[in-house]
Amino acid sequence: MSIDPLHPATRAAHAGLAVDPETRAVVPPIHLATTFERAPDGSYPAGYQYSRSANPNRATLEAALADLEGGDLDDEIACVAFPSGMAAIFAVLQTLAPGDHVVAPRDAYYNVALLLRDHFARWGVAVSFADMTAPHEVASAMTPATKLVWIETPSNPLLDITDIEKVATVAHGGGALVACDNTWATPLLQRPLALGADLVVHATTKYLAGHSDVTGGAVVVRGQTDTVERLQTVQRVAGVVPAPLDCWLVARGLRTLAVRMRAHVENALALAHFLDVHPSVERVHYPGLPNDPGHATAAKQMDDFGGMLSFVVRGGEAKARAVANGLQLFTQATSLGGPESLVEHRASVEGPASLAPPGLLRVSVGLEHPDDLIADLSRVLDP
Ligand code: PLP
Repeated sequence: MSIDPLHPATRAAHAGLAVDPETRAVVPPIHLATTFERAPDGSYPAGYQYSRSANPNRATLEAALADLEGGDLDDEIACVAFPSGMAAIFAVLQTLAPGDHVVAPRDAYYNVALLLRDHFARWGVAVSFADMTAPHEVASAMTPATKLVWIETPSNPLLDITDIEKVATVAHGGGALVACDNTWATPLLQRPLALGADLVVHATTKYLAGHSDVTGGAVVVRGQTDTVERLQTVQRVAGVVPAPLDCWLVARGLRTLAVRMRAHVENALALAHFLDVHPSVERVHYPGLPNDPGHATAAKQMDDFGGMLSFVVRGGEAKARAVANGLQLFTQATSLGGPESLVEHRASVEGPASLAPPGLLRVSVGLEHPDDLIADLSRVLDP
């Protein structure tokens, strides 16, 4: 009897696990070999020739991510892994041709905006930025040359929520593909392919690996065999490959993703409620709060609201930076998705093009006890 459909948590707990036929090891070995023996008839019996072309640990990770993002979809789901989230994003943009146009979110991760504005523009790929929370703005930004609509939801750092289904309908109506950066939600909380996206992008550096100790990226594609081939060419021929140990570490992270996400969400919700009524806080950005503008859409398309939030401290940049400096349990550092809580003054990291208000602090809510995190915040925020 098959157990069907499997919950995402079960798929995650079993990610990349298969008993090693040679040793019966329950956890897969790490294959550092760069080259694999050819048989007398010229074939490669295990399917591996050279590690830049394919590697067992990379193949295992790619299959696990395709399974997590694809779920029970009937279409062909392929995954191509990269050595960082930005490398994955770069590869997606490299599937475009000169003359193509991209619609990207006004609040896109700042390096994606930078890449589109400053790098791909020089290669003849044009970009328009739109407010993705208003699908009619996406429609107005599209041109006959639009080949790709980029979604990031929840967005970084304002936690804007994009209605994936609605934007995908608009994009497909104009003949464009839809790519969704699912780094902040993870496939445990949101599965964009089932909502109409064609590509899902991940910085596996974050929640998927989960321990702030490995960089990685991945693109998961539904159908679109041409796009998959172009991504694989970038990976294999341009040599943009993640190391076997890094793939192994990300796959290991996937196996605890469900339980970690549950705790991240629980803690983020507790902090958001605390901050929401605090007199020193002007505004909290967290889609789990019923008064958040993205709440209804997030409730519709996400299984839960995620472990990231941002809040605006009354008193502007100086006060916000004093709060970040005064916290003891939150490390002042960039990135997200690890067990340790991180806080970051975002405007000063992103530079002059930042949409982050000067008083905004972004928080990656970790796995500490929420009462301790709230006590730390109280200490620095209480008037
Ligand atoms: N996408 C999102 C939403 C991110 O937050 C980040 C990094 O912070 C990236 C992509 C880039 O990932 P990486 O740092 O692994 O290149």
